[in-house]
Amino acid sequence: MRIARVAHPEGVAFAAVEAGSDGAEIAAEIAEHPFGTPNFTGRSWPLADVRLLAPILPTKIICIGRNYADHAAEMGTQAPANPVMFLKPNTAVVGPNVPIMLPADSSRVDYEGELAVVIGRPCKDVPAAQAAGVLLGATVANDVTARDHQQADGQWTRGKGHDTFCPLGPWIETSVDITDADLRTELDGVVVQDASTALLLHDVPALVEWISRVMTLLPGDVILTGTPAGVGPMTEGQTVSVTVEGIGALTNPVAAR
Ligand code: MG
Repeated sequence: MRIARVAHPEGVAFAAVEAGSDGAEIAAEIAEHPFGTPNFTGRSWPLADVRLLAPILPTKIICIGRNYADHAAEMGTQAPANPVMFLKPNTAVVGPNVPIMLPADSSRVDYEGELAVVIGRPCKDVPAAQAAGVLLGATVANDVTARDHQQADGQWTRGKGHDTFCPLGPWIETSVDITDADLRTELDGVVVQDASTALLLHDVPALVEWISRVMTLLPGDVILTGTPAGVGPMTEGQTVSVTVEGIGALTNPVAAR
């Protein structure tokens, strides 16, 4: 199931994006929240009549750095033995097609296309073998980074935490095989990152075990699994699009603040 959050003519709701009776895609409204077994209200809208929002509003966003060997190498660093974890504030989240706003005091803002997973139930100390049971599904993320802020500070909160620096979407796919999915980033239609999630140094079950050993994960929390090689800068007026095979494409324009 593709779980989206949509702005519809009368408000905002979670919705399943699916084929309608005439074959055209619709957004079928989910009552309340999508966790557990979703209940449907019976209302639906043509997908063209709603606006896709960020598919979830997490209480926290846990990101993993240097989780592909080729990206660690391009940053001039070793791939770490254990996952390197950092947080983005939930105020950084935006949905598809919302502009990424370049901070006025940064001279280099990079895209980082990433596979993201969404937690489906409260959990702590989850063994890797049981990680699949705590996930709602997978989505696409862009771990937007002010590289100069990141490098100047020696830690990453400012570089990774600006408003609009966590595009998510277009929806959460609940039944996708993410163990070997193509991950591709395009800047103005030019492919700049192209890798497989099979190259993750620490895979999703290992990340869930590692993170949940530290902090309780809540429904809707998002884990960004890391970016492959090919990161680079975005400038005002460009468009960045991240696609994960089996999920979809997350596209955002880039604008000056
Ligand atoms: Mg990243």
